[in-house]
Amino acid sequence: MNQNKHNPAKEIQDLQFFGEFGGVNPSISDSATFSFLKAKTMLDTFEGNAEGCYLYSRHTSPSNHYLSMALAKMENTEAANVAGSGMGAITPVILQIANAGDHIVSSRTIYGGSYAFLKNWTPKFNIETTFVDITNLEKIEAAIKPNTKMIYAETLSNPLLELADVEALSKIAKKHNIKLVIDNTFTPLIFSPANMGADVVVYSLTKFINGTNDMVGGAICASAEFINDLKSVIDGSSMLLGPVMDSLRSAQVLKNMRTLPIRMIKHSENAQYIAEHLEKDGLAVKYPGLKSHPQHDLYTKMMNPEFGYGGMITLDLKNHDMATKFMEVLQEKNVGYLAVSLGFYKTLFNAPGTGTSSEVPEEEQEEMGLSTGLIRMSLGLDFNIEDTYKKMKDALNEIGYFKMQTQNN
Ligand code: PLP
Repeated sequence: MNQNKHNPAKEIQDLQFFGEFGGVNPSISDSATFSFLKAKTMLDTFEGNAEGCYLYSRHTSPSNHYLSMALAKMENTEAANVAGSGMGAITPVILQIANAGDHIVSSRTIYGGSYAFLKNWTPKFNIETTFVDITNLEKIEAAIKPNTKMIYAETLSNPLLELADVEALSKIAKKHNIKLVIDNTFTPLIFSPANMGADVVVYSLTKFINGTNDMVGGAICASAEFINDLKSVIDGSSMLLGPVMDSLRSAQVLKNMRTLPIRMIKHSENAQYIAEHLEKDGLAVKYPGLKSHPQHDLYTKMMNPEFGYGGMITLDLKNHDMATKFMEVLQEKNVGYLAVSLGFYKTLFNAPGTGTSSEVPEEEQEEMGLSTGLIRMSLGLDFNIEDTYKKMKDALNEIGYFKMQTQNN
């Protein structure tokens, strides 16, 4: 890698925060409120003019500040702010940028909760969203209206693994003087959206970044100005809606982030192996590391190469019953768990059409190619991936998948 370039893994490795007694991890802040020696300093802190002082933990706590600094370093943004969930990061960003009467252009393949928020919730406040195919730049530009304030997309979309060309989207956003907001939850380290021109990068920390599936959390990485706006006591959406992360949790995420680079490399290595082998077996596999992925070349051009193509793959078994049986047998064989979410040491799988994307109406699911036989898999950190593959193949045989294929041909 070019040593002069921003290297997110090195940023994480080099970041030093000592505890108050020289601890190798920073001390965990255990206070909701903070005292001041002078009333004037309290007032200055309220107005955001007292560097290094803390007022109240819904605004910032020392532990949340450490984690925010680490995320800002990883993303190469001036600042960051953590939240109590991914949705607790995404929704204030949207409400900070768009006001009543405004319009948003969003990718149509995004996490079901984000989709439901834009489709069903923001219209209550007269904010309208046009959903577009994010791989079609002409359609995106054509959807922009005089009152459009934002383009919203996921770098690698949930669940269809479509790639947003962040650099091209940023050019469109800049041309129309609107913000580009990118959810990079599926691909931390692999992509650095801010380096490619995104104004705001959001995360569900619940997934790869924390990696232990024992908490929910979110983050917003952006300019210092935007983060300060979100935290404003007067009209900041994060401050006033209050989706704060608990300090004990942020201390945990910071420690887990230290191993994110090696985890991402292993998730990618395992997903690449499974995708290649299942594709050879004739399955309809979608994985950006396969040449058959329609945006493989764009992905390769955009990625920080040492982290691979990520841990997410989809398999389309074309038939919902077959998909359901396959997942149940995989769980019996201890390959992984039938569960939503992603980025765990164990493989997780679900059928998003009836699960995480069930907020998307059926006709729209069909239009975007979200079949009911589609399985989304988040490959785990399996030590022996060859054995995992054998178990997957046994499961496919057991449910009669190959027999059905032969009959259909
Ligand atoms: N963004 C993406 C891409 C997700 O997959 C999810 C959750 O599944 C979210 C955001 C929401 O995150 P959280 O569940 O932490 O609120």
